[in-house]
Amino acid sequence: MGGQFARRARAAASGVIADDIRAAVRDVPNFPKPGIVFKDITPVLANPRLFRGAVSLMARAIARYQPDEIVAIESRGFLLGAPVADALGLPLQLVRKPGKLPYKTAGYDYQLEYGSDRLEIHIDAIARGQRVAIVDDLLATGGTAAATAKLVEQQGGEVACCAFLIELAFLDGRHSLARWPVERVVEF
Ligand code: AMP
Repeated sequence: MGGQFARRARAAASGVIADDIRAAVRDVPNFPKPGIVFKDITPVLANPRLFRGAVSLMARAIARYQPDEIVAIESRGFLLGAPVADALGLPLQLVRKPGKLPYKTAGYDYQLEYGSDRLEIHIDAIARGQRVAIVDDLLATGGTAAATAKLVEQQGGEVACCAFLIELAFLDGRHSLARWPVERVVEF
C-alpha cells in the first residue's frame, strides 16, 4: 500500500519536473539555418533542479532496460549521457563525427537529405552481446540515432533502448527507430 502511494507521488513529481523542463527549453527560430526552430537546452543545463531532474528521469527510464553500457552521441548527447552513466554506475562510450576520437575507430556512413555523413566509435567500445543504451539530447528525424544503433550492432552490441531528453514528435523519428525501444522525457 505504502509502496504504491510512494510510486504515485514519485510519478506525479516526475510529471511536474518534465513540465518544467519542457517550459525551460528555448526555441531559437532560424538556427542553424532558415526554417529550423532550434530547441536550445542550455536553460535546462543552467538550472540545477531541472538538469538533475532531466538526468534522473532519463536514468530511470533507461534502467528498466538493464543495459550494460551507455553510448552518448556528439555533442549535446555527452552532456546527458555522462551524468546518466554516472547515476546508473555504467560504462560510458562516445560516438563522434569523423576524426575526433583519438584511438582506432569503426565507422558507419549514412545518408542525409543532401549528401552523407559518418559516425565513429572506438573499436574496443562494445563487447559482443553487450546491451547498449543510446543517449542524445533530441530526436528529430531519427537519422543520427538510427546510424548510431546500426554502428552499435555492427560492433556486435545489442541496442537496449534509445533515450532522448526531447522528441520532436511531428518529425516521426520513431519510424526510423522502429526496431528499438524509444524513451523521451518531453515531447513537442
Ligand atoms: P535527427 O538525426 O534528425 O534525429 O537529428 C538529431 C540530432 O540533430 C541531435 O543530435 C540533435 O541534437 C540535433 N537536432 C536536430 N534537430 C534539432 C532541433 N530542432 N533543435 C536542436 N537540435 C536538433
